[in-house]
Amino acid sequence: MTNKLKYFIGNWKMFGDFGSFKIIYKITQFSKQSKTLYKKKKIILCVPNTLISPFKEKLKSKFISLGVQNCHYHQGYGSFTGSVSASMLKKAGAEYIILGHSENRSEGETNQLIKKKIISALNQKLKVIFCIGEKFYEKKRNKTFSVLRKQIKSSLEKKFNMNKIILAYEPVWSIGTNKIPKMNELKNTIRFIKNDFQKILKTKKSPVVLYGGSVNSKNIRLFSSIFEIDGFLIGGASQSSKKFIDIIRNYYK
Ligand code: PEP
Repeated sequence: MTNKLKYFIGNWKMFGDFGSFKIIYKITQFSKQSKTLYKKKKIILCVPNTLISPFKEKLKSKFISLGVQNCHYHQGYGSFTGSVSASMLKKAGAEYIILGHSENRSEGETNQLIKKKIISALNQKLKVIFCIGEKFYEKKRNKTFSVLRKQIKSSLEKKFNMNKIILAYEPVWSIGTNKIPKMNELKNTIRFIKNDFQKILKTKKSPVVLYGGSVNSKNIRLFSSIFEIDGFLIGGASQSSKKFIDIIRNYYK
């Protein structure tokens, strides 16, 4: 078993209410019990904004961190009806924030807008989980690498604190579809992202790169063959404590 730190990040999307704390409680118990078994893992649950504050209050555990899933680009307060800023989310208890998720890109988020959000989040000392990924037609046209390069280049800058940014490679065609990439292709893509990130941002630091898209307890073993993957962003399966825990268990089997 690898000794490298692995991330297991849940994206609850628009699901959950106050009662959903039981999911977090069960994952916390599991994490405590398994801390010697799977020492090098980091669990982060990105919940809806409405739950961040009450969950933070209840969560008396160093084993799990809480995050959110988007913010407005404007810093602080402003006349942006229905929106929430990074500083408001930070004050409510978020440590992490998902930005650039394809479900938000499909609603019109551009690389430039995502960059503004990243700046705002980093200014608030939130750690950013920055999602990138190609659509199916782009993959078919062999455009995956150029799409990823553009997304990285347009939204990140050398001056950003890269210790606070995690990249999540999420092929759009894989999210919520039960389709996953071929492992040799995925390995090449993760390598490409790591190399290209270093080239584009002129840094020697290798970024943390996660995979996301239809990860479940059955297919997780396949991914463990790819050393370069630093963890997983898990959508649907993170809304059940059993499914999420089984993913971690099976990963380390
Ligand atoms: C996601 O929404 O980030 C995701 C990976 O979803 P799913 O695991 O359901 O494909």
